[in-house]
Amino acid sequence: MESMRVLLAEDDPLLGQGIVDTLTRAALTVDWVEDGPGALAALKSGGFDLLVLDLGLPRIDGLEVLRQLRAANNRIPVLILTARDRADERVRGLDAGADDYLGKPFDSAELLARLRALHRRQRGAAASAIVVGRVKLDPAAMMVTLDGRLVELPRREFALLQLLLENAGRVLTRESIVDKLYRWDEEVDSNAAQVHIHHLRKKLYPELIKTIRGVGYLVPKVAEDT
Ligand code: CA
Repeated sequence: MESMRVLLAEDDPLLGQGIVDTLTRAALTVDWVEDGPGALAALKSGGFDLLVLDLGLPRIDGLEVLRQLRAANNRIPVLILTARDRADERVRGLDAGADDYLGKPFDSAELLARLRALHRRQRGAAASAIVVGRVKLDPAAMMVTLDGRLVELPRREFALLQLLLENAGRVLTRESIVDKLYRWDEEVDSNAAQVHIHHLRKKLYPELIKTIRGVGYLVPKVAEDT
């Protein structure tokens, strides 16, 4: 299965640990924070595919976390955890921009099913073609063209190029690239990203991907004059 990084914001230690165990057994990567400020800080650092958000969080409650997130134009899919008997909580959560909800207590299989559905929906929504410079990548068709000519890429290079193009204008660190492209249980050579980047530059064109020394890689948003 494709890797999915989940941020869990839940202050109940037993429930939190239960969710971490459930997601970990399903081979998802999960980071766990226990209050609102922790959630906001983690989200700012980025790299998560989904947020599981308890509404009753200490210091800054879940609803406020959600509002701040959406106000900052962060579109991460959010599943809120609410009390089973609180319809008003669900409504306010959905109004504030949650994508789905689950009433406590819930079944771990249902949690996983909801998360997978959200992730699929998100990927479907993001599946329109991306054009940067001379390159066009169509995620749905799994096709890359350079100046209109088809370029064949192995699956991992395609995924790396997609990651770089989706983040055009932002520097991606080597670590974040490896985190996204490899499951936590895969053996990864420390040069893996470098080797794939080398291939992409050769098959496309060198200026597409800039090396930021000691940090990582950047695809400039606007094609530069050379
Ligand atoms: Ca709580």
